[in-house]
Amino acid sequence: TQQLIMQKEKLSVIGELASGIVHDIRNPITSIKGFLQLLNTEFSNNRYFNIIHSEITQIEHIANELLYLAKPKETDFKVELLAEIIEESLALFGTEAFKRKINIYFKPEKYRALFVRGDKVQLKQVFVNLIKNAIEAIDKKGTIYIKIDYDATNIFASIVDNGIGIPADKIHKIGQSFFTDKTEGTGLGLMVTHHIITNHNGKIIVDSKEGIGTTFTIQLPIANIK
Ligand code: ADP
Ligand code: MG
Repeated sequence: TQQLIMQKEKLSVIGELASGIVHDIRNPITSIKGFLQLLNTEFSNNRYFNIIHSEITQIEHIANELLYLAKPKETDFKVELLAEIIEESLALFGTEAFKRKINIYFKPEKYRALFVRGDKVQLKQVFVNLIKNAIEAIDKKGTIYIKIDYDATNIFASIVDNGIGIPADKIHKIGQSFFTDKTEGTGLGLMVTHHIITNHNGKIIVDSKEGIGTTFTIQLPIANIK
């Protein structure tokens, strides 16, 4: 019957989602286990503590994302320095980018006067998702630039990657519920990102060329400077 088919579809969506989430959690766990073992040897190194910390924070972000889906309306809006939010999001990817030979360029000190009004945890979630996608879009060596611009009413933060790009016929699917074209993707990232940004009266602008790269721009209303 129809009812039964619907149930089956639901289960497979949950199954796909679960396998993507498990994959995202398992990677940092594997890394944490490895570095914990190294800490116990003569190769022990202070840097390993930072790596372990950043891997644990990755897992924390995945938990936040799931929580956001469960309770999307709990927000805590304050005036925040956008560059700081991006800087803290980037801090999570040190090891990942290093492993993958990706250079990430961002100069937070250039943007010390640009504030937005928002929920810091949620906005960090947005930038973590966009940076993660940019890293995953680069298959060999690559570069990610992050820039902030503004006009009288808005701030624009752009994440520019030279990864695989998005084919023109797929760009409209991006951000639709659970859309992913990665074997171990969840399609959660842009969905949550879109919810958060809309809730902040902002916009997401995508510009992409297959084989050349992708730019995601987050537009947010500028907040009065403190
Ligand atoms: P996931 O990363 O789990 O697949 P997302 O919602 O984060 O889910 O992204 C959805 C899809 O959008 C990705 O599977 C990918 O096809 C596409 N995408 C997002 N960001 C980029 C990017 N920077 N470069 C190329 N494709 C991207
Ligand atoms: Mg993603």
